[in-house]
Amino acid sequence: MPAPGKVILSLQQHTGGPSKPLVEVGQEVKLGQKIADGSSFISATLHASVAGKVVEIAPRPHPAGGDVTAIVIENDGSDEWAEGIGPKGDLESLTPEQIRGIVKEAGIVGLGGAAFPTHVKINPPPDKPIEYLVLNGCECEAYLTTDHRLMIERTEDIAFGAKALAKALGVKKVIIGVERNKPEAAVAFNEIAARDDLFQVESLEVKYPQGAEKQLIYSLLGREVPSRGLPADVGVVVQNVATAAAVADAIIKGWPLIKRVITVSGSGVREPKNVEVRLGTPVKDIIEFAGGYEGTPGKVLMGGPMTGMAVYSTEVPVMKGTSGIIIMPREEAKQYDPLPCIRCGRCVDACPAYLMPITIANFTEKGMLQEADQYGAMDCIECGCCTYVCPAKRFLLHWIQLAKHQLLALKRQTG
Ligand code: SF4
Ligand code: SF4
Repeated sequence: MPAPGKVILSLQQHTGGPSKPLVEVGQEVKLGQKIADGSSFISATLHASVAGKVVEIAPRPHPAGGDVTAIVIENDGSDEWAEGIGPKGDLESLTPEQIRGIVKEAGIVGLGGAAFPTHVKINPPPDKPIEYLVLNGCECEAYLTTDHRLMIERTEDIAFGAKALAKALGVKKVIIGVERNKPEAAVAFNEIAARDDLFQVESLEVKYPQGAEKQLIYSLLGREVPSRGLPADVGVVVQNVATAAAVADAIIKGWPLIKRVITVSGSGVREPKNVEVRLGTPVKDIIEFAGGYEGTPGKVLMGGPMTGMAVYSTEVPVMKGTSGIIIMPREEAKQYDPLPCIRCGRCVDACPAYLMPITIANFTEKGMLQEADQYGAMDCIECGCCTYVCPAKRFLLHWIQLAKHQLLALKRQTG
């Protein structure tokens, strides 16, 4: 879609510390110019997604709730690139260190939703040797089809990006996991695997939440990431296909991460579609581009229907990790009152992390945080399966998320 008149670039659109502004109000900036730097080891740089004038650096609505400082740029419509944007050289001649540097400078984060800084993920500690790079092409949430389209339309770029990531990690095998409902994507990757034995394509059963890192590693390799552990603990790094495409853009064209593809869908929007948008585009502009609301809107979700978050204002902008915008009409967005638990155990059966969701939720509701922690609250992958299957409509995920936030806050306080 065309770039909007104004972009709102939040300083917190990745996992880790917020970025630190490098520009001032009134300053002219060019497309792709670095406007904020990472503030800590786990953080990310941020670039202007339009050329124009910085008109505000102030708290603005954030998709996670509340206000977070953002740099607002008024678009002058010129799309004039910043100096120094250009190809970074042959992949063969780039060293792993240089690849990590390019990825860091481009502000690339995991585009599957977690938004973890990619340069950190491809720099694991020396005591955790990596054997496999897994390329996540599952896209298992309903409605979302951006990765599917990218895998068909940008197969070569994804393979290039994966090759660069593999070189940075020093791995000899890239396993591409694609669910069986995306056969054209599997065919396209198989053609690449036929001429390059770095790649191995695996067709997977269609199953939610198979796109979650730990579940995908288990499906592909039978390796179980330990409780509170990371994929690197079992010799694996997982990257989303869209992240690999962004790495290709950063090396081949020198583009920093200034745009992404998102799905706009749901029965509450007139023309569902996939659109390439500039980061910082307000949600309301994207809904308008997709023909506007169909019926009376009840809920607007950022992300998929299972893991997405309802936004309280359509002024919130698209972030690096925004994979979709789902619009539900009022009749679909009905909120039920929770009933008492009937001890059916369905939430336990449904949990892919083998947790006892009702127990953790009950402990959290009673303020028994340490007990919630002992029962594995931090291992919850927030897939929403427990809440989805609960016949009593209990807010299980809501309570578990609260436990996780409170436990993390406690950890920060106590160091
Ligand atoms: S959201 Fe529920 S089902 Fe999913 S991992 Fe967490 S506790 Fe388990
Ligand atoms: S699914 Fe709902 S009703 Fe059944 S045990 Fe879990 S919380 Fe209770």
